[in-house]
This record gives sequence, C-alpha cells and structure tokens, in this order.
Amino acid sequence: MSDEPPTCQCGSGDSLADCCGRFVDAGQAPETAEQLMRSRFTAYCRKNIDYLVNSTHPDARSKRLREEIEETAEKIKWTSLEVVSTSQGRAKDKIGKVEFIADYEFNGERKTHRERSRFRRFQGKWTYLDDRG
Ligand SMILES: [Zn+2]
Repeated sequence: MSDEPPTCQCGSGDSLADCCGRFVDAGQAPETAEQLMRSRFTAYCRKNIDYLVNSTHPDARSKRLREEIEETAEKIKWTSLEVVSTSQGRAKDKIGKVEFIADYEFNGERKTHRERSRFRRFQGKWTYLDDRG
C-alpha cells in the first residue's frame, strides 16, 4: 500500500482533496466553469446526487432531474475525462463553455460521450445549464 493520497477521478493528476474534493466534499465554490465541470464528473463517479442537483442551474432543473441523475449514476460507470476546450468560464465571467470527452461503460460496453456544456452563474456560483454549447 502506498501512502500517496488518492488522485482525483477527473484525471487532473492532482489529489482528490486538492482537486474536485474541495468542491464535492468540502463545499467550496468552483472559481471556473471547468472546475465545476470536472467536479460534476467526479460527483457522478461517486454518486453524489445532491451535488449534481445543486450545481444545475434552476432553469434546467426539470421535475425528473434527480431521478435522471440517479439513473445515469447507477447505470453508467465513468472511466475517464478529457477536457478538449473551454471558452470564457473564468473567475470574472458570467457564462462559460466547456467541451469534453468522457469515456464510460454501459452494459459492459465501452462508450464515449462528447459534449459542449454551457455554464452560467446563479447567485454568484457556477452552475450547469445544458449541453447545447
Ligand atoms: Zn478533479
């Protein structure tokens, strides 16, 4: 057994505590849209449904949002994340886009999900809006 702290599931190479753990576990607010995107990936991996619901923009919270997130988190095993590009989404922006490729397993098959997510601030905090970026 190694004493190294676990690395973050978002693939940043940093420890969980220094990366998405700050947001998912410790309740800090991500400063950039990319940090939120990565932390939501990590939250999916760890089935932290509350984090995913709470970091969705209120305009995008459908009645079934929690169920949909739960279903996705149960059925899909996310295996890796690569952030392809970002636009805006920095500490001083109000909107941002993050394009990413995420590999996952579903019913024993390996698949890839590519998405351009849109993020928008709500009450000062980054939230996920939709995949129509
Ligand atoms: Zn991370």
